Amino acid sequence: MKIEDSIETFNSLLKRQGFIWGPSPEIYGGLAGFYSYGPAGMALKNNVLSIFRKELRALGFGEVECPNVMPEIVWAASGHLERFIDPVLNCVKCNSVYRADKFLKKELPEKMIDGLSFEQMETLIKENNLACPNCDTPLRKIEEYNLMLSTKVGTDTIAYLRPETATTTYLLFNRLDQVMRRQYPLKVFQFGKAYRNEISPRQGVLRMRSFDQFELQIFISKKQEYDFAEFDDVKHTKLPLLDWKLQANNIDVPNSISLEEAINTKILKKPAFAYCLYIAHYLTKKLGYSDNVIRYRQHSPNERAHYADDAWDLEIKTEQFGWTEICGIHDRTDYDLKRHGEYAHQDFKVAMDLNPKEKEIPQILEVAYGIDRILYTLLETNFSVEDDRINLQLTDFLAPNTVAVFPLVKNKENIRKLALQLHQALQDNLIYSFYDESGSIGKRYRRQDELGTPYCVTIDYDSLKDECATIRERDSMEQIRVKISEIPDYIKTKLEESKI
Ligand SMILES: [Zn+2]
Repeated sequence: MKIEDSIETFNSLLKRQGFIWGPSPEIYGGLAGFYSYGPAGMALKNNVLSIFRKELRALGFGEVECPNVMPEIVWAASGHLERFIDPVLNCVKCNSVYRADKFLKKELPEKMIDGLSFEQMETLIKENNLACPNCDTPLRKIEEYNLMLSTKVGTDTIAYLRPETATTTYLLFNRLDQVMRRQYPLKVFQFGKAYRNEISPRQGVLRMRSFDQFELQIFISKKQEYDFAEFDDVKHTKLPLLDWKLQANNIDVPNSISLEEAINTKILKKPAFAYCLYIAHYLTKKLGYSDNVIRYRQHSPNERAHYADDAWDLEIKTEQFGWTEICGIHDRTDYDLKRHGEYAHQDFKVAMDLNPKEKEIPQILEVAYGIDRILYTLLETNFSVEDDRINLQLTDFLAPNTVAVFPLVKNKENIRKLALQLHQALQDNLIYSFYDESGSIGKRYRRQDELGTPYCVTIDYDSLKDECATIRERDSMEQIRVKISEIPDYIKTKLEESKI
C-alpha cells in the first residue's frame, strides 16, 4: 500500500471509529481549527491522562486547575499582549492572508527563516519580488497579529482566553508556596484548555484553536538548578538530542548521549533542566512510543519564546506531518514571577535553601505537553495496514476497549445470555468491555482491530458444554480457550503485564 493511500485510510479511520471529528461544527460546515472527540477518542485521552496523573503524583507533583479566562493585566504582565504575535502578510488586492514565516519557507525553501525579525523578512520579500500566490500582486508589509482570543467579561472588562495553562498556574504562586510547605523545588501541573487564534490552521488536529495542554512547572532556586539531587539517579539515561548547533550544520540526526555527557559538553547547562528532559522522556515512553520515533530538538536562540532561556521540543515522527512536537521543555528563568510580582505589586522573593536570609524569586522550569498532539501521534504511530487488515497496536492499557465480547450467533438465546453475562462480569471488574452481536464475526473482529481492542472473546456452541470461550489476541491473532469464569482475572493479569 502506498503511503498516501495509507494516510487516507488512517484519516478515515479516525472519523469512522469515533476518535476525532471535525472541523466542528460539522453539520454547519465546520470552523477551521476546531475539533471534537468521539467516545473512542475520549476513552484514549482519559487513559493517557490517568497514566500521567498517577506517575506525576508519584514524582511529587500536585495538580491545580484555573479559569480559562483571565483579565487583560495578566497578559500584559506575562508578555503575551506584546509578544505573542505572528507576522502576517495581507494582499491589498484580493485580501488573502498569509503567515509571513510559513509563506517564506515555502517560497524560499533554501533560506533559514526561523528567528528572522519582521524587517529581515520584509527585506527578503522585497529582494525576491514575492507576490500573492492567488492574484500575483506584490506583497510588502508585514503586520503584527496577536494570537490570543479576546472576550468581554460583564459589560466592559476586556479579557482573554488563556493561550497556555502555565501563566494561570504562576498566578497561584504565593498560595502554592504556603500549601506545599516551602519545600523547594515545588512541583505542580495543570491540565486544561488553551486557545490560540491561529491565522489559517491547516494541519488538522495538530493546530487547533482550542486545545488541551498538560503543563508541569517546577519552581526552583538558582542553586538547586545546578545542585539537583534527582539528577544523580537519571544522569546515565541516554536521550536522542539534536541541539541547535547540529541543526545549524544541516544535520538532522540526533546524537544519543547521556544527560551527564550533555552537561559536561555544555549542550545542557543545568542538571535540573536536564532532569526535565528526562521526565518528558519518562512520561512519553509510558505511552508505548518506540525509540525510533522520538527525538529532542533544541530551539535556536532566535526561535525561542520570549520567556525562554533554553527550549527543546520532544518530537514524534509521523507519516503525515513529519517530525511533530508533542512536548516543549522550557527554562523560563524568573521571568514570569518577576513580571507578575511587578504588575501585581507582590513580593515573590522567598527563602528556598537552608539560609532563611537568602531570598530570591524562584526560577521556573516547564514541561508542556499538547494532549491532542499526543493522541494524534499515538494513533498514527500505532496504525498499520497489512494485507488489507487495519490494526491499531495501542498498548493494552491505552486502548478505548480492553475487551470486546461476541456471541457467535445472536439468535441462540443461551449463547447470547452467556455472552451478556461475561460482558457484565468484566464491567463489574472495571474492565472496559464492549458487547457486539451485529454483523459477521469477521467484521466484528475487524472493527475492534481498528479501535485497538487487544482482546476479543467469542462465546460459541462449545461454550454451552465446556463453559470456556475463545480469547483472540489482536496482534498475534492467536486464539486460546479459557474458562469463562476466569476471563476477568485473565484480562486483569494481561493489563498489569502491559504496564511498562
Ligand atoms: Zn492577492
